[in-house]
Amino acid sequence: MQNIQSYIMPTYGEREIEFIEGKGVYLYSVDKKKYLDFGSGIAVNSLGHCHPKLIEALNSQSKKLWHSSNLYLNKNQEEYAKILCQNSFAEKVFFTNSGAESIECGIKVIRSYHHYHKNIHKKNIITFEGAFHGRTFAALSAQLNIKYSEQFEPLLSGFIQAPFNDLESLKKIVNESSAAVLIEPIQGEGGIRPANLNFLENVKKMCEEFKILLFLDEVQCGFGRSGKLFAYEWSNIEPDIIAVAKGIGSGFPLGACLTTDAACIGMTKGSHGSTFGGNPLAVSVGKAVIDEILKKNFLDEVDKVSRYLWKKLKILENDFDEIVEIRGAGLLLGIKTKNNNIEICNLFSKNGLLCVPASDNVIRLAPPLIITRNEVDEAISIIEITLRELND
Ligand code: PLP
Repeated sequence: MQNIQSYIMPTYGEREIEFIEGKGVYLYSVDKKKYLDFGSGIAVNSLGHCHPKLIEALNSQSKKLWHSSNLYLNKNQEEYAKILCQNSFAEKVFFTNSGAESIECGIKVIRSYHHYHKNIHKKNIITFEGAFHGRTFAALSAQLNIKYSEQFEPLLSGFIQAPFNDLESLKKIVNESSAAVLIEPIQGEGGIRPANLNFLENVKKMCEEFKILLFLDEVQCGFGRSGKLFAYEWSNIEPDIIAVAKGIGSGFPLGACLTTDAACIGMTKGSHGSTFGGNPLAVSVGKAVIDEILKKNFLDEVDKVSRYLWKKLKILENDFDEIVEIRGAGLLLGIKTKNNNIEICNLFSKNGLLCVPASDNVIRLAPPLIITRNEVDEAISIIEITLRELND
C-alpha cells in the first residue's frame, strides 16, 4: 500500500483493503478482488449488501424527509416501535444510532427505575468477564476490561463483575445493593461464548428474587442472528430491558433500547433524548429490515443454514489440529485456533473470505442472514484450503 498521510485519528490502525461495492454476500475491493463476506461489517449487514428492498426504502424516504427532530411526531417511528414491541417482550422503545447508545439508555432505565422506587441502595449493575458493551464511558465501566479502558480511567462507579456462566459465583455477588444484571446472551467480542440457557434462566430467577432488572445486550447476537429474532427466545425467560443495534439497520446507523412499561417507569419527559435517534431515514430502513426478517420462513432458514455451517465446521475441527474448538450459536460462530487468530484471518482474507477476529484467539464468522448453503460451501472450501496451506 502507498504510504499516504492519513487525517483519520489512528484508533483503527493500518487498513489496507478498500471496498467500493457490495452485493448480497459479496464485497468488491478497489483492486477488483471479490470477497465472500463472513464478517458482515462486524455482524451488521444482516440482509447483505445493497438489498433491493432497503435501497427502495431509503431512496423513497430520501425524497420526502431526512430529518425533522424528535420534537415532532413521526408516525413511521411510532409504527416501527409498535412492530418491535409486538414481536418481543417490550412495551416501549427508545431509538438510538449505535450499540453503545442503546447500552447507555438501558443503564439510565435501570438507575431511574430504582430512583422512582426509592431503592436508594440499589446502585450496582452486575456484568460479566469477557463482556463487551461498547466504547462510551458507561460501556467501558460496565465491561471492566482493561484492554479497552486502561488509558481512560477513572471509570464510572456502580459496576461489579462476575465470572461468565458461573451461577455459584454470581450468588455470592448479588445482594441488596444490586440494581440489575447486564449480560450478552452470546458474548461476541469476548470470544463467541454463548451463555448457557440454564444459567440465563437462573439469572432471571435471581433478578426476580432480588427485585432487580435483567438487561440483555443483544447488539451483536440479536436481530435474527441466533435463528430467532432475539437470542433470549431460545430460553424460557423474558428480560426487562434489551439493547439492540448492528443488524437492526443492516448497515444504516440505527439502534434501540427496548423495555417493559414497568422497567422504564422513571424515564419521563426530558430524562433522555437523541438528536438523530429514530430519524426518518433510519426508521424507513429499519422497517424494511424487520419486514424481511419477519417474512414467513426467513428465520427458519437462518436456523437451518446455521446448523449446516456448524456441521461443516465440526468436520473441519475433526480434520485439522489447527482448530481447537468450534463455538457459538446461530450465525455467530467462532473458530478457536492454535496459531494467532489475526494472522489466520488475514490468510482467509487473502484467499477471498472475510472474517473478524475476536478475543480468546477466536476467528468470528458472522455472515449475512441471507447466506445460502452454496455460499457456506464456498466459505468452508476457502477455510480448508487455507488451513492446508498453513500445514504445508
Ligand atoms: N454491545 C455489543 C455486544 C457489541 O458487540 C458492540 C459492538 O461491537 C456494542 C455493544 C457497541 O456497539 P457500537 O459499536 O454500535 O456502539
